[in-house]
Amino acid sequence: MLPSSTSLWQFLERQVAAVLASYGYREIRMPILEMTELFKRSIGEVTDIVEKEMYTFEDRNGESLTLRPEGTAGCVRAGMEHGLLHNQIQRLWYQGPMFRHERPQKGRYRQFHQIGVETYGMQGPDIDAEVILLSARIWRALGISDLELQVNTLGTPRERADYRDELVRYFEAHSDQLDDDSQRRLRTNPLRILDSKNPAMRPMLDGAPTLMGHLGEASRAHFAFVCEILERAEVSYVVNPRLVRGLDYYSRTVFEWVTDKLGAQGTVCAGGRYDGLVEQLGGKSVPAVGFAMGLERLVALLETLDPAAAKVSTDLYLVLLGDTAMREGLIVAEQLRNGLPGVEVLCNCGGGGMKAQFKRADRSGARYALVLGDDEIANNTIVVKPLRTDEQQVAITRDDVVEQLRGRLQGDADQSAEKM
Ligand code: ATP
Ligand code: MG
Repeated sequence: MLPSSTSLWQFLERQVAAVLASYGYREIRMPILEMTELFKRSIGEVTDIVEKEMYTFEDRNGESLTLRPEGTAGCVRAGMEHGLLHNQIQRLWYQGPMFRHERPQKGRYRQFHQIGVETYGMQGPDIDAEVILLSARIWRALGISDLELQVNTLGTPRERADYRDELVRYFEAHSDQLDDDSQRRLRTNPLRILDSKNPAMRPMLDGAPTLMGHLGEASRAHFAFVCEILERAEVSYVVNPRLVRGLDYYSRTVFEWVTDKLGAQGTVCAGGRYDGLVEQLGGKSVPAVGFAMGLERLVALLETLDPAAAKVSTDLYLVLLGDTAMREGLIVAEQLRNGLPGVEVLCNCGGGGMKAQFKRADRSGARYALVLGDDEIANNTIVVKPLRTDEQQVAITRDDVVEQLRGRLQGDADQSAEKM
C-alpha cells in the first residue's frame, strides 16, 4: 500500500473505529501467529482455508504455527485464556492482516486485511440485529450506499442435521451435475456445496431444498425478530436461503453484504452467530455473534467514490533561502504548528534554489508558500504567497503570521464548504 492510497485506508479505519466506539465495542489486539491446531479445530479440517489456504510452518522448536487466516479463532483463544468469555458480555473488535494462500486476483489477495467484530454471552436475537445495524451504519459513515444485505438462518445443529439428510438425497439425485469439489463435499460438508461459485451448477443449486422447512419454533422466532428490527430500522435486506456456512458451530443468523461493483469478489462483509465454537475449542458453551469485513474490497469501492473527507494535503510550505533562513525556518515551522493545530506545515529541508523550492511547494499541494530569505529575516517579516489563486503575495510581520494564516485558512475552509 503506497502513500497514494494510505489516506483512503486511514479514512476507512477512522470511520469504522468511530462507528464501533459509538456502539460501545472495544478493540482487542491478537497475535498474527497462532498454533496451527487452533485453526484446524476452529475453522474445521474440511474447509478451503484449512485444506489448502493456510501459511503453516514449523518453528525452531518443531511446533507447527500458522499465519492467521482469520480473526475469530484467535479472539476466542485469547478470550478463553484471559477469562473474557465465561459468564460475561463482551463486544469486541479487531483489525489487521490475514493470510490465505489463494489464487491472487482482483479483490483476492494472499495478505489482506479485515476489521472484525465479535460479541459473546448474548443468546437472543437482539445482538444479531445490533451487529447488522452496526454494519449498516458503517456503510453510511463511509458514504457507500449500494450494498445488498443478504440474510439467512441456519437453525440449530440438530435442525441442520435433518436438512443435511434431505440435501444429500437431492444432490445424490443430481450427482451428474456436481463438479469435483462438490462430489468431495457431498461426503464431508454438503452444505458448502450450496456456496459453490461454479456458474454451471447454479440452476441445480437453485432447485435445491431449503432449510426453512426444518426450522423449529424457537429458530423461526429468532429469525423473525432479526428481520423485524431490520425493517423497523429501515435496513433493507433479502433472504438468501443459499447463504450458508458449512461449519457445525454456526447457528441461526448468517448475513453478508454484497456489491455488484467488484466483479466476482463481491462480498465485502460476512458474519453470523457461532454459538458452538467456544465449546468446540474446549471452553464452556458461550453464545457468540460476529462478522468480518474485507478492507481491500471496501477500499476498492471507496476508490470509485473518491470521498473528499479522505483527502490529505499540505497547507503551508516554507521556502527557505540562505543559511540563516534554513535555521530560522525550522523554528518558524514549530511556531506555526503550535499556533495552528491540525494544519499541515511542510518545512523545506535539503536546501535548493528558489525555483526548486517553489516546485516542491506546488507539488505538495500547499495553499500558501511562506518565504523566508535574508531580507525577511532582517525586517522580521515573512512573505505569504497564495499558490492556488492569483492573489498577490504580502509581507507580514513575524508576530502576526499565525493570526493572519488562521484567518486565511479558515476563510478558505468556509469557501470550499459553501461550494459543496
Ligand atoms: P470468499 O467467498 O470471497 O472467499 P470467504 O467466505 O472466504 O470469502 P470470510 O472468511 O467470510 O471470506 O472473510 C470475510 C471477508 O473477508 C470476505 O467477505 C471478504 O470481503 C474478505 N476476504 C476473504 N478472503 C479474502 C482475500 N483472500 N482477499 C481479500 N479479501 C478477502
Ligand atoms: Mg475464501
